[in-house]
Amino acid sequence: MNKRKILVTSALPYANGSIHLGHLVEYVQTDIWVRFQKMQMHEVHYVCADDTHGTPIMLRAEQEGITPQQLIERVWHEHKADFDGFHIEFDNFYTTDSPENQEYCEDIYRQLQAKNLIAERSVEQFYDPVKKMFLPDRYIKGECPNCHSKDQYGDSCETCGTTYSPTDLLNPYSAVSGVKPERRSSKHYFFKLSDLRCRTFLKEWIFESLPSQSGIALEMKPRLQSEAANKMNEWLSSGLTDWDISRDAPYFGFPIPGTAGKKFFYVWLDAPVGYFGSFRNYFKNKRRSQTGIEEFLRPGGKTEMVHFIGKDILYFHALFWPAMLQFSGYRTPTQIYAHGFLTINGQKMSKSRGTFITAASYLKQGLNPEWLRYYYAAKLNDTMEDIDLNFDDFIARVNSDLIGKYINIASRCSGFINKKFDGKLTDAISETNRKWFNQFLFCQLGEGDTFLGRHVSIANFYDRREYGKAIKEIMLAADVANQYVDRMKPWELAKSRENDAELHEVCSVALNMFRILTVYLKPVLPKLAAEAEQFLKVNPLTWRDANSQNRLLADGHQINGYEHLITRVDPNQVEKLIKANQESLQPTTQQSPTTQDVQTMEKDPSTLSQDIKENVKRTTAELATVDDFAKIDLRVAKIIDAEQVEGADKLLKLTLDLGSEQRIVFAGIKSAYSPERLKGRLTVMVANLAPRKMKFGVSDGMVLAAGDGNDGPYLLAPDSGALPGMKVK
Ligand SMILES: [Zn+2]
Repeated sequence: MNKRKILVTSALPYANGSIHLGHLVEYVQTDIWVRFQKMQMHEVHYVCADDTHGTPIMLRAEQEGITPQQLIERVWHEHKADFDGFHIEFDNFYTTDSPENQEYCEDIYRQLQAKNLIAERSVEQFYDPVKKMFLPDRYIKGECPNCHSKDQYGDSCETCGTTYSPTDLLNPYSAVSGVKPERRSSKHYFFKLSDLRCRTFLKEWIFESLPSQSGIALEMKPRLQSEAANKMNEWLSSGLTDWDISRDAPYFGFPIPGTAGKKFFYVWLDAPVGYFGSFRNYFKNKRRSQTGIEEFLRPGGKTEMVHFIGKDILYFHALFWPAMLQFSGYRTPTQIYAHGFLTINGQKMSKSRGTFITAASYLKQGLNPEWLRYYYAAKLNDTMEDIDLNFDDFIARVNSDLIGKYINIASRCSGFINKKFDGKLTDAISETNRKWFNQFLFCQLGEGDTFLGRHVSIANFYDRREYGKAIKEIMLAADVANQYVDRMKPWELAKSRENDAELHEVCSVALNMFRILTVYLKPVLPKLAAEAEQFLKVNPLTWRDANSQNRLLADGHQINGYEHLITRVDPNQVEKLIKANQESLQPTTQQSPTTQDVQTMEKDPSTLSQDIKENVKRTTAELATVDDFAKIDLRVAKIIDAEQVEGADKLLKLTLDLGSEQRIVFAGIKSAYSPERLKGRLTVMVANLAPRKMKFGVSDGMVLAAGDGNDGPYLLAPDSGALPGMKVK
């Protein structure tokens, strides 16, 4: 097999929110693929970076009173810890706010300019005269032109679902400052995607297939999944428009050369270029490649560039990005693999249901990250369909497969080897045991006599991202191993010394089966595999360990004592996790985005980040600070007298004792209380309300009562023990 040289990327997480279980689908998917290719001894480089530019980052930093650089530095560490926690092993995890990235962006821009693929055009947009900035659609709010709901965003109404442009909004206002925005025009820079050269190139590119040496035979691999290629073709056929790649200052990003710092590259231009920036940085600092960087980044080399992405950012990766690269002298992606979204228990992740689960909270609650890696692997395939994390299924599957089928083999057989045979294995194998072993190693193709090594079949599934099928095949092998142990009954053999040779053989074969299962599972369960390697006292396993002719460890190979390698999922842990994520719904905490498509949602100014959105909502709802609350002087008051008020339908006249003074308050509680019932009661009053002159006299304060318009009012009362005049806080 030829040695492949592959640059692999996962989409860049946006530095304005936490990594959650939805994001992890992609990183786990990519990491498994990378680990598998590395086990095949290919040269693989897996790079990623935080995506750090754009308006949401700029505004969030401002809100927190820090610089954007401080914000992205902090988030980088959070993201890195999350990825490490889930064993996502990037060769380099960098930032798009880097000199390497800037250099590539400027170079690509200049090359496109030289090819006459950059256009300048005037664009009219809403402008916030107080913030002195142009407003992306999602930062403009107003009344829906259709249903007249208030406080709707500039692109669509959340009440009736109508989409429109910001100019259609009635009474528009800036979500940043609250003022009425003005319409102003400004010069923008466009990448001319509508140019015939781009269209001609893309039309061919999206349907191209390339020969690949992976797997059992040479095969043609399409650049895009067919459903993705067809989707892109629809876009192309409906006519691509030029892509606005510039934003006006103030903006957190790279200034466009020759614009005197007034124009910046739109974040979506520099984000994919960030793959190159991270790769270059990796070469500079921890180069482990025998191949030069140019061979990876320029056309004509025998290298591959493979992007893993979510289906929501396909058009950026499959249209804009290859066109940019093609006409600026760089190589285009070899393959783009898009996956679907994650649902939890059959529904979109939801904060109120507690299923909006961050990576950090999963780890903090003590759940094993490899459980999730295994479950995702069992569900993943090569399509763009969504995958569902069903927690009941998760618990059942992890417990029955990983503990019941896989770990069980080692725990049932290692004791005999250690106790009776000094921890040493034998490579003797009788005819019967050889039959079992072959049944374990090979799978039957169809009904005939054709057999295929499982290591080949499983390798093909991994390479094609059919992880679900790989796991199925692995568990079939595990079933054979368990049937073998059940049939041979080592615990029965151990009862008589006469059977020692057979016992030794059976346990040795079973542990070799366990070792080969560990090879198969290693891309998915790297930590568990490392511990199993230690237990078996073997070098780090590669795919060769499953396909060499002699699949038994040598006679006399010594193993270590078995210690339990992985625990079962306790349903209580899952319950706690969900509860913890429900509880994290405090209005004052910084919330992560509620959608998985963080990339589009947060970067594209036409779709604003959930973070900002929530902050905006809070601003409009006028959240009170502790200081605001402290301004209100609430006191326990004793109603020493209550009287009817002549001519008033709703009011009662209360005389309240505050300990040091008495007050007269007119309260609208006549519908619910007779004066007699109130005398002597304790209640709560606002003691520093400005006195209000009413028709019947001056009301000097306000008593508190609950009600929703139909029901109530219900007068508040303190618990017994409270005394008139006590402060309520
Ligand atoms: Zn509406």
